[in-house]
Amino acid sequence: PKSRDGYQWTKATGLVQGVPTLGLIQPPTHFTRGKNYDVIVIGGGYAGIITCRDLTLAGNNVLLVEARDRIGGRSWSSNIDGYPYEMGGTWVHWHQPFVWRELRRYGMVDQLEISPRKNVEGGARVTVNLDGEIKHLTHDDEDAIVESAFKKFINVDGQFGRTVVPFPHDIELHRAGVEEYDHMSMADRMVQVAPHLTPLEKNMFEGFLSITHGGKWEEASFFELLRWWALMDYNLPNFMELGLMYKIRDGQSALARRIFDEAVGTGRLDYTFSTPVKDVIDHGHGVEVTARSGGEVFKARRLVCTVPLNVLHTLAFSPKLPTLKTEASLAGHVNKVVKCHAEVANPDMRSLGATNYPHGRLTYTFGDGTTPAGNTHLVAFGSSLPGVHLDPEQDIEVTKEAFEAFHPGMNVQRLVFHNWHKDEFAQGAWEWLRPGMTTKYLKALRERHGNVFFASSDSSFGWRGFIDGAMDDGGRIAKLVHDELRDVHPIASKL
Ligand code: FAD
Repeated sequence: PKSRDGYQWTKATGLVQGVPTLGLIQPPTHFTRGKNYDVIVIGGGYAGIITCRDLTLAGNNVLLVEARDRIGGRSWSSNIDGYPYEMGGTWVHWHQPFVWRELRRYGMVDQLEISPRKNVEGGARVTVNLDGEIKHLTHDDEDAIVESAFKKFINVDGQFGRTVVPFPHDIELHRAGVEEYDHMSMADRMVQVAPHLTPLEKNMFEGFLSITHGGKWEEASFFELLRWWALMDYNLPNFMELGLMYKIRDGQSALARRIFDEAVGTGRLDYTFSTPVKDVIDHGHGVEVTARSGGEVFKARRLVCTVPLNVLHTLAFSPKLPTLKTEASLAGHVNKVVKCHAEVANPDMRSLGATNYPHGRLTYTFGDGTTPAGNTHLVAFGSSLPGVHLDPEQDIEVTKEAFEAFHPGMNVQRLVFHNWHKDEFAQGAWEWLRPGMTTKYLKALRERHGNVFFASSDSSFGWRGFIDGAMDDGGRIAKLVHDELRDVHPIASKL
């Protein structure tokens, strides 16, 4: 079964839109016209499907309204010849409590795989393009250089950021330093630190950091990096382990499917896919949701909206959303990272790591797996700085060349990607706020608006911008809504 989302290229097929995925839901609709549901959930990403599952298990009748033909939102895997390429959210870790709970629940904790393989005997190592000069390093060299730069960059308080973000899951926004560093951009911080970096440190570190947000350095808040660093336990080895190491063997869509199927199994989840929402009216006694095409109207007592921050302003709400929510959505998060996979007929490149910054259309790559054909699967990321932004589907040759530029002799057989920036239901990759946005908008983004509640990784606490944050927020809102509905009209809980 093939989703409309994503692209695949091989020499034999050329560019093909749409890739197979376990996340495709067929038939796409299952609901009762005119029914007044307890809750409507807009969006079937992780925040949405966790909300659906928890609410239906607790006895509520729920309708999921999703714009795409599949579940998973920004986390989904294509399944090509039985091999999953992760199109969005990928890496998970046992230090991410909400993801781990889900993996445990569905018996998947022993289904993790390790992406980077650093020490393959005789295999490719690290290639760095420093102003046209190609350098070959060991992985240990790479780690030492990036770590040295990172520590200088993050050490704003002599304690590597610990005093600014001492409790990463419970960010007290009035804490000393938060406001100052929230208003500081990544560019501002680089100006302070650059004189203390060697040219190689600066180049490799910038190449690495550019894929944390992918946008212009002056538009990305430095506080977000302090927060990530704290979540990763204030050191680089953990940063790499928690952020880029362990992925689910059968792909993210396998996990999303388990969550969705459990909700459907209660008999209380209805759904309609390929149904973008146009507007939401809160009548006080309940809500009405109108679909964009066909004008179908759905009714419920409460609504949970899980659309991404960058998309929220495209839905019309009546009464209007508070100014702070609309302003935050219009400003949007800045993440413009491009993610692209290649299958290359170079088994020795399983242990490759490479940066090609600042001129590469793709900036950073490493071995992510071995395909059923015995080829290496490389994952690569690019930024969207002026002059280097890549829309892979618009120029496959340039995309191929961007991979080939990482290492001599690379033989690209297949490309797989999802262009998140051209995707109207995401309008960007993972959340990375602009300077000043955390302190100004985060609280407001989390607030309810009458009968409308909001859950999203983009405005969660803790692992905000990660899969874990989406699950955390979905579970939080499901509980709030359920408790409120139980007071209004007691429902027998199954839990
Ligand atoms: P989404 O998944 O975006 O769900 C929102 C849903 O709302 C979508 O399904 C969307 O189609 C739907 N929607 C939008 N508009 C409408 C509308 N008008 N009507 C109806 N439905 C609508 N996280 C990690 O933990 N590890 C990683 O390795 C990682 N890597 C990433 C790489 C990339 C390229 C990207 C894009 C993200 C990555 N993330 C990663 C982040 C993670 O994927 C997201 O934070 C998380 O999946 C977001 O979940 P969500 O439910 O909050 O939002």
